[in-house]
Amino acid sequence: MTKKIILLGPPGVGKGTVANKLTKKLNLPHIATGDMLRDNTEKKTPLGIKAKSFMDKGLLVPDEVVIEMVRQRLKQDDCKDGFVLDGFPRTINQAEQINNLNFDEVVNLQASDDIIVKRLNNRRVCSKCAFIFHLDYIKPKQEGICDKCNGTLYQREDDKAEAIKERLKVYRSLTEPLISYFKNKGILVDVDGSKTPKEVFESVVSAVS
Ligand code: AMP
Repeated sequence: MTKKIILLGPPGVGKGTVANKLTKKLNLPHIATGDMLRDNTEKKTPLGIKAKSFMDKGLLVPDEVVIEMVRQRLKQDDCKDGFVLDGFPRTINQAEQINNLNFDEVVNLQASDDIIVKRLNNRRVCSKCAFIFHLDYIKPKQEGICDKCNGTLYQREDDKAEAIKERLKVYRSLTEPLISYFKNKGILVDVDGSKTPKEVFESVVSAVS
């Protein structure tokens, strides 16, 4: 049986943390458009060069760029039994473009702006394996070093104060309308993302089972 899941929610609500665990549990690929774009910016590919100026400012990368990138990724063999989309779609147009995929569930993670700003400020990401740490509740054992692979941890440029404000604004105007869009399709499940990572994960698992 295939399983196609979308994780929806504002930046910093915990989509990446949930997706890391959920994809292991369900043995599905984790398709995180933010990670794919960052990989391209690091490698300075033409796509990465195009995307970087938008990402650093907290703006969305143009739809046509992201949609094509996701289309190519979903064609790969590991997606044939399903996948977890994290950070895509982020606009109604993106959702319309993948309308044919018949998603099973859209998990809508929610938390207040105060919680989100705090989480984004305290987020640190491994430069090697992209594992996500939080200085308050998923602390690295050794400061600045990834527990999983010894990679160096860094703070994303767009997790700094100015970009956070912009990202929340963009979320409210362009991404939040997707909540009603998927609700109308009858596949949206709300999950309280303000709880501990363990509690949030348990709620997500029961939402998709
Ligand atoms: P994320 O890691 O999901 O927070 O994404 C980081 C940044 O990548 C976003 O702020 C956008 O600039 C860009 N991005 C990621 N996913 C998308 C998407 N679906 N559409 C447009 N831009 C995206």
